[in-house]
Amino acid sequence: MGSTIDTNESLRPEFFNEYWQRSHLCGSIREDMIGKEICVNGWVRRRRDLGGIIFIELWDYTGPVQIVFNPEAGAVHDRAGDLRSEYCISARGRVTKRPEGTDNFSLATGFIEIVASDFLLLSPSNPLPFEIGEGTDKVDENLRLTYRYLDLRRERMQNNLRTRGKLYSFTRNYFDANSFVEIETPVLTKATPEGARDYLVPSRVNAGEFYALPQSPQLFKQILMVSGFDRYYQIVKCFRDEDLRADRQPEFTQIDIEMSYVVEDDVMRLIEGYMKGLFKVILDVDLETPFFRMDYWDAMDTYGSDKPDLRFPTKLVNLAPVFENGSFEPFRKTLEGGGVVRALPVAGGAALSRKELTDIEERAKKMGAAGLAAFQIKDGELKGPLAKFMNTDEQAKLKEIAGINDGDALFVLAHPSRLKACNILGTLRLELCKRDESPDNRWRFLWVVRFPLFEWDEEEKRWGAVHHPFTSPVLEQLPQMETNPGSVAARAYDIVLNGSEIGGGSIRIHDPQVQAKAFACLGIKPEEARERFGFFLDALSYGTPPHGGLAIGVDRLAMFLCDGQSIRDVMAFPKTQKAQCLLAGAPSAVEDKRLDELKIKCVPAED
Ligand code: ASP
Repeated sequence: MGSTIDTNESLRPEFFNEYWQRSHLCGSIREDMIGKEICVNGWVRRRRDLGGIIFIELWDYTGPVQIVFNPEAGAVHDRAGDLRSEYCISARGRVTKRPEGTDNFSLATGFIEIVASDFLLLSPSNPLPFEIGEGTDKVDENLRLTYRYLDLRRERMQNNLRTRGKLYSFTRNYFDANSFVEIETPVLTKATPEGARDYLVPSRVNAGEFYALPQSPQLFKQILMVSGFDRYYQIVKCFRDEDLRADRQPEFTQIDIEMSYVVEDDVMRLIEGYMKGLFKVILDVDLETPFFRMDYWDAMDTYGSDKPDLRFPTKLVNLAPVFENGSFEPFRKTLEGGGVVRALPVAGGAALSRKELTDIEERAKKMGAAGLAAFQIKDGELKGPLAKFMNTDEQAKLKEIAGINDGDALFVLAHPSRLKACNILGTLRLELCKRDESPDNRWRFLWVVRFPLFEWDEEEKRWGAVHHPFTSPVLEQLPQMETNPGSVAARAYDIVLNGSEIGGGSIRIHDPQVQAKAFACLGIKPEEARERFGFFLDALSYGTPPHGGLAIGVDRLAMFLCDGQSIRDVMAFPKTQKAQCLLAGAPSAVEDKRLDELKIKCVPAED
């Protein structure tokens, strides 16, 4: 080896006290600085040795700049030969125009380079577990999460987290400008029912008792309305102890808002203004407002989802008019018994093979369908196992209602449950139909409103809240709460973007008596309500303004803005599917002494 960097050099005190501080940021150097002597600090991302000349791509948060070590630099040049990836250095030199023909048009600093006169090694790096340069998205995610500090040096992660930071600053500006006040609510608190399990924190000073980490600041924000703050917001961490399905995290961030003296429209308009501003600032996209609004049952019937992805134009169809008096008995019977016959048209589906049709039916069966009848139109003729049970009129009616033509397919499902039928066809819709990729179809927002207030929990054999128990019923349906809870609509609204729910909220119950009724429907006994929410019910009885609000999921919203694949792409230190932080090694066992203080005994984990 030539001249080796003595890494101990970097531990000499002057490196800490007196290192050469940068005069400029790497990514900021331009042609108007040619001839200037400057100093830059950063990481060595790439080193190339070409014909005795050493080129280094030096990075800081503003991007890269090229540093050149010519052989004439003597010992400095030789030392530079030992620089390795991610060594942190300070380099001095003169800004120079790049030689003819070597400009890099894709870089802001691509027309200049710094011809180095000297450099200091500020801190060497161990050999890297993976490359930091771009094009390394294929690196195993667990490795990325274990060395998250290196992963975050990558340009993409830098951009994502900086965009997220912009989202925060836009959020604060917007809500401040709209007379909201940011107020923090406790993290060590009591359970709020949002439908998930709470994370519990044992109390040492009240041994045997536990705090719950908030699933949302729901009760506190409503209490802030009782207290007269009128408009509250908070960018807040929330915690839900769920089995981590797909793209969930145990701790996540919400923009939580609550407003007094409002109706649904006020909240929705405020949020539309927010989204419009945010998309303009971050993506320079002009969203059209107001967003489309759709009742829950319309969304289910039309798209088979309570968060429809409107980028897919295909709509489900109701085939009751074809089969209610039709010759095909099983479908007629399903309809007579209160069930539904619904269908999914698939443009171009006549090309699906028999094997593909069978696979699609198997998918539907896995989701709870007894069967799925496929029709295809080939050469003007309706084909499929059921076609022979239908007369010509019925066949014509089926084609007309479903809007299918030569070359298309139709998947028909009869099911005793409308909800189940919609869900199954809704899932197939996303799997089998084509997305409209036109640019003005890129961002499809909508509000889904008037959700059911309650849903039947088959396991627990009782009604549960679709949103949470503080959601107001639609007022004229109040009497139905006792007689037919399943038919009551909620004053709730979800905001959906491209098939993802990115936020939701409701107008709240502000009358303690209505709140008591809601608890009764949910099978929460008065004593239990008192024990769990007594403080809140008391607060409601001191002159509560009508109020409502909503919470927006920041992680998912940021993911959209950054074009990320997962919310982990926009979180600095996310957890794995097993709720572990691979970087810090959490959760972890604690010493017996700590457990003794908490009066907690662990039993061995079951396999
Ligand atoms: N607390 C609700 C949630 O976290 C949002 C709301 O109702 O404002 O989903």
